[in-house]
Amino acid sequence: MAERSSFVVVANRLPVDEVTTPDGERQWRTSPGGLVTALHPVLTEHGGTWIGWAGGTGEAPEPFELEGIHIHPVPLSADELERYYEGQSNATIWPLYHDAVETPVYKRRWRETYRLVNQRFAQAAAEVADEGATVWVQDYQLQLVPAMLRELRPDLRIGFFLHIPFPPIELFMQMPFRAEVLRGLLGADLVGFQQRLAAQNFVRLARHLLGLRYEGQSIQVDGRKVKAGAFPISIDTREMERMAADPKVQARAKEIRAELGDPKTIILGVDRLDYTKGIELRLKAFRELLADGKLKVGDAVMVQVATPSRERVEHYQTLRVKVEREVGRINGEFGRVGVPAVHYLHQSYSKQELAAMYVAADVMMVTPLRDGMNLVAKEYVACRADTGGALVLSEFAGAATELRQAFLCNPHDPDGVKDALLRAVAAEPAELKRRMRVMQRHLRTHDVAQWARTFLDALAEAAGGREIDEPQ
Ligand code: ADP
Repeated sequence: MAERSSFVVVANRLPVDEVTTPDGERQWRTSPGGLVTALHPVLTEHGGTWIGWAGGTGEAPEPFELEGIHIHPVPLSADELERYYEGQSNATIWPLYHDAVETPVYKRRWRETYRLVNQRFAQAAAEVADEGATVWVQDYQLQLVPAMLRELRPDLRIGFFLHIPFPPIELFMQMPFRAEVLRGLLGADLVGFQQRLAAQNFVRLARHLLGLRYEGQSIQVDGRKVKAGAFPISIDTREMERMAADPKVQARAKEIRAELGDPKTIILGVDRLDYTKGIELRLKAFRELLADGKLKVGDAVMVQVATPSRERVEHYQTLRVKVEREVGRINGEFGRVGVPAVHYLHQSYSKQELAAMYVAADVMMVTPLRDGMNLVAKEYVACRADTGGALVLSEFAGAATELRQAFLCNPHDPDGVKDALLRAVAAEPAELKRRMRVMQRHLRTHDVAQWARTFLDALAEAAGGREIDEPQ
C-alpha cells in the first residue's frame, strides 16, 4: 500500500530520468524542468506524491522516494503508448487545440485507450491521496482524470491546468468524444488556462455543449461550482539569470560567436521540431530577405535548433523532411564554402549551452502559429542581463500577452515577419535596452513559483466555495 499524501501532482510524465552511473549502476535522477522546480517546495513541505509515467513500456517500477518527493510510476504498454500518447494526445488533441494547423486524426481505438489510461491515473491518485487532499492534474493527456477522480473520491480538492491553448467552440466541436472531455475537465474545482481567452472559450463551451449556466468564470454543474481562470506559466527567472551570468556561460557565448565567424547579427531559433512553432515560415522569411538583398550571408547568420520530438508521429516525420529541405535550399542558394547561411541543429543541449546561445544571439525568433505560452521567449529575455538583444515574437504565442515590448508579428503574414525581423536587426541599442528592461522586470515578479502559488491559492478558494448556495 502506497503512502498517503495531502498534496498530489498527476502528470503524464514523472519528473525523473533513469541514468547509468560511471560504475554501471542504474539510478533515478530528477529531470530539470520548470514544473518540478516550481512544485518541489510544495511537494517536499507536504510529503507530496507525483504520479506519472516513468518512460519505457511494460511493468512500472515500484513507488520510490527521490529528493523528498514520493514518486509513483504508472505503467504504459507499447500499444497504450501508441494509442493514448502518440495517437489521441499528439495526433488528435494537440493539433486540434492548436488551431488545427495540421489536420487532427480521429480514431476510435485511440479514444478508448485514452479513457483506459486516464482511468488508471485517476485510480492511482485515488489510492495515494489523503482525506481532503489537494490533487493537481496537469495537461491535455489527462483531461478525463478530474471527473474520474471526483467519482472515486468526492472529498478531494481537484485542480487542473492546461499547458496548451484551449480552442474556440467551433474547433472543439469537431472532436468525436467532445462531451466526455468537457465533463472530464468539469470534475475539477478549478480549471486553469494560460490565457484569459482560453478560459472564456471553456465557459462558453460548457453552456453551448452541455447547457450549463455560468456567471463570470464560474460554471454550475451537478450542484457544484467549477471555476475557470488564466494562470500564465513562467520560468525560474532568477535561476536563468544566474546561469547566463556564469563566467563559463559568458565565455562559451563568445566562443559560439567566434565559431560562427563573428557575424554582425546572429539570428537564433530554438524550438521542438513541431509544426506549431513556425520554423518553416521563419526560414522562408530569412531566405526572402537574403534574396531581396536586405540581409547578407556573412553579416547575418541564422542558427536553428530543432529539438527532436515525437518522431513516431507522422505529422512530425513530414515536418522534418520539409524543414531540412528548406535549410538545404537556403544553404545551396546563398551559402559559400565555410560560410553557410543557416546552421541547423537537430539535437538536445544542456541548459548551460542553451543559455550561451541565448547570450550570443542578437535576435531571437519565436514565431509559432499557435503556442500555449512559449518558455523559450521568456528564457531569452531572462538571459539578457546586458539588456542587449531583440526578441521577435508571434502574437499567437501566449507569451505575447505579457512580453509586449517584443517585436511582435503575425506569423501568417510573411511580410509582417520580415518587417519585424528587419526592425529588430536595425534597432538602436538604447531602444533594445528599454524594451528588455521592461520585460525583465515583469519576469522577475512573474516567475514559475509565483504561478504555482497563485494557482494553488485560487484552488483553495474555489474548493472552499464549491457548494452552490440554495436560494432561501
Ligand atoms: P514546448 O513546451 O512546446 O516544447 P516551450 O518553449 O514552452 O515549448 O518549452 C521548451 C523548453 O524546452 C524550454 O525550457 C527550452 O529551454 C527547452 N529546450 C528546447 N530545445 C532544447 C534543446 N535542444 N535542448 C535542451 N532543451 C531544450
